[in-house]
Amino acid sequence: MRKNRMTNLDTVSKKVFKQRVIGFHESNQRGPLLIAIGSIHGNEKAGTKALNRVFDELNENDGIQKGIFAGVVGNMMAYKRDQRFIDVDLNRQWSPANVNRVVAASTYDLALQEEWEMRQLLMRFNHILDIYTRKYPDAEDRQVVMIDLHTFSANGRPYSIATTTGNSSQWARQLHVPAIIGMEVVVKGTTMHYFNDLELVSFGFEAGQHNDPYSVDVMEAAIWLTLVNVGCITKEQVRQYQKFEALLKKEGEGLPACVAFKYRHAIQEGDQFVMRPGYVNFQKVSKGEYLADDKNGKIYAPIEGMILMPLYQKQGEDGFFIVQDVDD
Ligand SMILES: [Zn+2]
Repeated sequence: MRKNRMTNLDTVSKKVFKQRVIGFHESNQRGPLLIAIGSIHGNEKAGTKALNRVFDELNENDGIQKGIFAGVVGNMMAYKRDQRFIDVDLNRQWSPANVNRVVAASTYDLALQEEWEMRQLLMRFNHILDIYTRKYPDAEDRQVVMIDLHTFSANGRPYSIATTTGNSSQWARQLHVPAIIGMEVVVKGTTMHYFNDLELVSFGFEAGQHNDPYSVDVMEAAIWLTLVNVGCITKEQVRQYQKFEALLKKEGEGLPACVAFKYRHAIQEGDQFVMRPGYVNFQKVSKGEYLADDKNGKIYAPIEGMILMPLYQKQGEDGFFIVQDVDD
């Protein structure tokens, strides 16, 4: 028997709310609000698929024990078209100035698909935060955590991305895969920046290659462990907890617990950037190593370290990143 746990959705119609909301579970017991975003990059479907699995399982069982758990789709149009984005990268648009502009703009002035997506997403965030705040008016009773779910174009092992706000790195590190810090310095305008600006805690998770079915398994494991870590549910109530934990431990085995973003190779439209084949996440590179080509010639590693997210797809503003072990 499936129970419908959509409740308290009185400020917008349930139908409109549900269009972007994969699931919404609310417990009567005080606890955290966990918001998970899948597919803010439309071709990264594993997050949305994994959220569907988790909500199906919760629907068939007792749901969560504490707080609220909501899952939303980031870029719906790009998801339908299996593209990273339609006009602009939705995960680079969240500077306070741009958010304010999009919120204040008249409908006629929203020319880009991602401006629509952002406005819709903001409505859902605000609605979910509003339900939570009304339920627990005392700020001391509230704890908001956002997890942003991604995949990447190359083959390679998963990792989490921590910010410096609140206990972001605690949640990121509890997933047993390398936690990357210092993202704020090399990438701007992500949803994590938006949550940071609201002084809410967020972290990212990169599960694996976009189209690898295994990325959905890794993603599902990360969602269940996070539900347990933040306190929405206990280990005992997750049917396959041991399996999920073992899977993530295996993925993190032999890799550093924490690395820092040190370098981003930015690409501009028309650069004709081509990554040399065979690079995978956390592969060691030496200074001066020949990594890629573009219209200006060969591109070499400016520093030594480990490569992260080498770009093997057409869309994207980041050619590759170089990270370094923080303990080195
Ligand atoms: Zn992504």
